[in-house]
Amino acid sequence: EKVLLTGASGFIALEILYQLQELGQYQVRGTVRDASNEKKCKPVREVFPNPRYPLELVEADLSSDKGWEEAVKGVTYILHTASPFVMRVKHEDDLIVPAREGTLRVLRAAAKEPSVKRVILTSSCASIGYGHPDHKNERIYGPDDWSVPANVDAYTKSKTLAEKAAWDFVKDNKDHQFELCTINPALVVGEFRGSAGTSLNMMRDIVTGALPFVAPIGIGMVDVKDVGAAHILAMTKGVPGQRYILAADSAWFADIIAVCRAEFEPLGYTKIPSFQPPFWLVKLASFFVADAKSVVLTWGEKPMFDHSKTEQDLGLEFRDWKAAVIAAVHCLIRNGEIP
Ligand code: NDP
Repeated sequence: EKVLLTGASGFIALEILYQLQELGQYQVRGTVRDASNEKKCKPVREVFPNPRYPLELVEADLSSDKGWEEAVKGVTYILHTASPFVMRVKHEDDLIVPAREGTLRVLRAAAKEPSVKRVILTSSCASIGYGHPDHKNERIYGPDDWSVPANVDAYTKSKTLAEKAAWDFVKDNKDHQFELCTINPALVVGEFRGSAGTSLNMMRDIVTGALPFVAPIGIGMVDVKDVGAAHILAMTKGVPGQRYILAADSAWFADIIAVCRAEFEPLGYTKIPSFQPPFWLVKLASFFVADAKSVVLTWGEKPMFDHSKTEQDLGLEFRDWKAAVIAAVHCLIRNGEIP
């Protein structure tokens, strides 16, 4: 059976690709934006040595129809991971349009290709537990919850709107033949196989001291190995129509920082922050520093995520997020991203 993996050069996609090729049961076709970009494509081609089925790489961009119909030809499963993951953009549409329209391009192509049995969309906990006006600290969010787009940052909004568009597509288009499941990961950490993705910026900034303070903000955490495994399990064991939450647990920044301090201070990384600013200071800073705005938006919040359905249907046992944080930082150090 053939699997299409969109955005094959990404942090999560490379883990999925490695696991698929390790299994040796599937032929994989990956999409990249630019097949002549060696820096991006080399890690994709080399992620798993001597795979049983050679990898096929094709070009397709979320911003254009070109290439998608050819990309889905003959595949049984589509793992749609591609989506812009950057935190700083000039306009929110720079994220929302490619995320939502790109997802719809993939689904429209899938609907026209009779071989496609199932699509797994990489959504996010960002589509679930944010912007709720009635949020209470440590409230547990589950697969029935949806983030409120009006109250969140551009990336969170792009993930929420793209996932909504996908469910609307399968509901409103009766002529599609495929099933849909989503994978909704929290902050993904762990070792990377190509270049470090955006989600590891936080670990890097903690250990280098670029993140100068500890904010009372909590976040769900998951190991990239679990995220890779869940995509593959969802292809065959997932129940159509489900949103699979991937969060081993939620942690306060202070917890993540404590893990980093215990492991890396003895190795000479002495800039790990400990200053806890008062809210008024961060609010003031948010008028001058763009990054402080999202800190203000989520101040004092630690959303929790209910992963019981994921364990039940996919049989996934979550790895320890603390070990994944340590593995991520060691990997960043080995790759020279933390001097
Ligand atoms: P990466 O930035 O490493 O991967 C994103 C992938 O999307 C890259 O392959 C990128 O291609 C591709 N992409 C971006 N824009 C376009 C476009 N216009 N056309 C085609 N491809 C495009 O991030 P992750 O691996 O972390 O993210 C993968 C998915 O997982 C995303 O959907 C993300 O939202 C989601 N996710 C990630 C979490 C995390 O903590 N890492 C948590 C929850 C969800 P290129 O390499 O060319 O830029």
